[in-house]
Amino acid sequence: MRIVQKFGGTSLAGIARVKATAAIVYDAHQQGHQVAVVVSAMSGETSRMHALSKDISTTAEAREVDVLLATGEQASAALLAMELKRLGVDAFSLTGAQAGIRTDSQFGRANIKTVDSKRLVAAMQAGKLAVITGFQGCDEAGNITTLGRGGSDTSAVAIAIAVDADVCDIYTDVDGIYTTDPRIVACAQKIKKISYEEMLEFASLGAKVLQTRSVGLAMKHGMPIHLRSSFDNIAGSMVCKEDKNMETACVTGVPFNRDEAKITLQGIPDQPGIAAGIFAPIAEAGINVDVIVQNISDHGLTDITFTVTRADYTKTMTMMHQHCLNMKAKQVFGSNDVAKVSIIGVGMKSHAGVAQTMFQTLAQAGINIEMITTSEIKVTVVIEETDVDRAVTLLHTAFGLDASTA
Ligand code: ADP
Ligand code: ASP
Ligand code: MG
Repeated sequence: MRIVQKFGGTSLAGIARVKATAAIVYDAHQQGHQVAVVVSAMSGETSRMHALSKDISTTAEAREVDVLLATGEQASAALLAMELKRLGVDAFSLTGAQAGIRTDSQFGRANIKTVDSKRLVAAMQAGKLAVITGFQGCDEAGNITTLGRGGSDTSAVAIAIAVDADVCDIYTDVDGIYTTDPRIVACAQKIKKISYEEMLEFASLGAKVLQTRSVGLAMKHGMPIHLRSSFDNIAGSMVCKEDKNMETACVTGVPFNRDEAKITLQGIPDQPGIAAGIFAPIAEAGINVDVIVQNISDHGLTDITFTVTRADYTKTMTMMHQHCLNMKAKQVFGSNDVAKVSIIGVGMKSHAGVAQTMFQTLAQAGINIEMITTSEIKVTVVIEETDVDRAVTLLHTAFGLDASTA
């Protein structure tokens, strides 16, 4: 088999973990598989370096921030390659650029454009083992770029597709994808098989176990992802094409995201083009808007509330204060301590009253819903961050997702 193995930060946090990871790679290689490895930085390193750049300036030059952040993956790739060499494997490390990963020039959120896989395929066929830095590539001009937080999942899937691997194994600190984050709900259940569509919803609604873009890419190319633990040698969760039997459960998971901030523009003259006017400068600044709610107008005035990530909150607030004057809005206010909790499930299409159960569960617990948005297979609410753990736990029970303790 041809396998791309990706190891996350916890699998590489310190020399003992690097050695344990090398043993997993060594085993696969010994079994005769053609293997390429993609690594993240040791856990905490990317955040530590981010904080260092912020100590220089909160608006540090994005190109330089990427040069700094990319070093984390370089350190773990070199250490893992050294240990594999010590074990007798013909291993060598490669940066994203050396591995042929070309991106656009959006520093901090670059998109992979192409992967030139010739060098990787030749190495694999010769029994050599490339250890590639995830999370990074280089643009046409040769600048180092990074792909956004959690981006080494996307690097791994892109490389797996480029080398035509049979599977992309993503090793992390949990042994699979669970009905919700097992760090919050201990009785969450492992989902052995999940469709790309559902995993895409799961990831985009906040289950950070896989970067959303990695799932989209895998879906487009039909690349199976096996999410598994580097701590226990047991089968994990397969993310793959939909199996018709998967459509039975009504609600399959309760993802959540704490990284939300809410902004309201109040008292804007209600006329055609207001939404376009508000969101155009935000889009131009490359800021993603998530949930949007507009009220019906009262005496020709309306309110719009929307959410952005917390990192974009201050910048968006400044833009909206400026905009408020242009749009003749009465006031702008916001808070960056809200969070998003969702229920998802393809089975929801054919079950009535699912949203009502969610609202009732939250109401009984005295949890205030600030915004609501729905689609065919999900219901999302925005609530105060302090209520998240309670909301997720209660919803997990209300929809029958708790693992039986019997
Ligand atoms: P890595 O550093 O290996 O990329 P991450 O921290 O990015 O690891 O992702 C793994 C973490 O994702 C787990 O430790 C877990 O707390 C979290 N997580 C969130 N939602 C889920 C979920 N539904 N199933 C499994 N893990 C989840
Ligand atoms: N090291 C990067 C991060 O912490 C990329 C990754 O881990 O996937 O976001
Ligand atoms: Mg990750």
